[in-house]
Amino acid sequence: MMQPIFLKAVLQDKIWGGSKLYTHFGLDLPSQTIGEAWSISAHPNGVSEVISPAEFAGMGLDELYQSQPELFGGVTEERFPLLTKILDANQNLSVQVHPDDKYGLEHEGELGKTECWYIISADPGSKIIYGHNAQTPEEFSAMVEEGRWDDLLREVPVKDGDFFYVPHGTIHAIGAGIVILETQQNSDTTYRVYDYGRTDAQGNERDLHIQQSLDVTQFPHQDPQVNITEDDQDGGKVVHYLTNEYFSVYKWDLKKSLTVDLPKEYYLATVITGEGEMEIDGKVYPLHLADSFILPSDIQSVTLRGDLEIIVSNPETVASKKELV
Ligand code: ZN
Repeated sequence: MMQPIFLKAVLQDKIWGGSKLYTHFGLDLPSQTIGEAWSISAHPNGVSEVISPAEFAGMGLDELYQSQPELFGGVTEERFPLLTKILDANQNLSVQVHPDDKYGLEHEGELGKTECWYIISADPGSKIIYGHNAQTPEEFSAMVEEGRWDDLLREVPVKDGDFFYVPHGTIHAIGAGIVILETQQNSDTTYRVYDYGRTDAQGNERDLHIQQSLDVTQFPHQDPQVNITEDDQDGGKVVHYLTNEYFSVYKWDLKKSLTVDLPKEYYLATVITGEGEMEIDGKVYPLHLADSFILPSDIQSVTLRGDLEIIVSNPETVASKKELV
């Protein structure tokens, strides 16, 4: 086939969402509170559809993954392993934590969630919550009961282009004014610790999950190791942010052109800045802001041209993951 698979994002209305997915990315929004565009998703809560190639157009990514395993390295898992989203935090997201695979499967029937964030844009003064200051679950739960959120939660200022690794067990929240590209395990399990006492249109607060949060949170919090490396070429560079047991994450960053080898089974990509094109096997495909696509396993290299920033990920192999669960 040797063709990229372009996908249509699923838009998710959120209490904290805004309209930057329209004003910044040009997506057609059905409301003024769209928090998330699930750009590359096979999750049952929102499945991206194939735009092209024509032979698969209209098919959900879940169905494509199951029916065309040769596009994904030949061996597929029960579920497509990754999920890519763009988030627009017009207000603070809830303070939350995600379980590991074992806890997630036992209690929610789905894998855990390890995620990472590339900060596409951050208003001046924007902050995230990243980690906590309690030494033990007992201390954590006492601080929650007393409402000592400022003492408990660690705030970190952020700026455009920052990268954060959020392994399962990390207390976190994206703050107002921040737009991120998130790469994560294909899971929607979230334990909410604190929601600022916020209520929806019906006057209801969203559920909190304090016990589950205590069960899965890391004590004491430790910042994970992140070692960012760059591979410079003439017209651009490949930034490598992270490789863990689930995925690797990169940025293809070019002012003119960049050729990238693709040794792994397949790659997920979302354009976060600029315009340009990519050439694969002699064919040229235009690239626009917010375009999302998969490069299937028969594509060995791609040449990009233009002024582009693209966040790219690839899953770790089925074999390496089996050992873990
Ligand atoms: Zn999260």
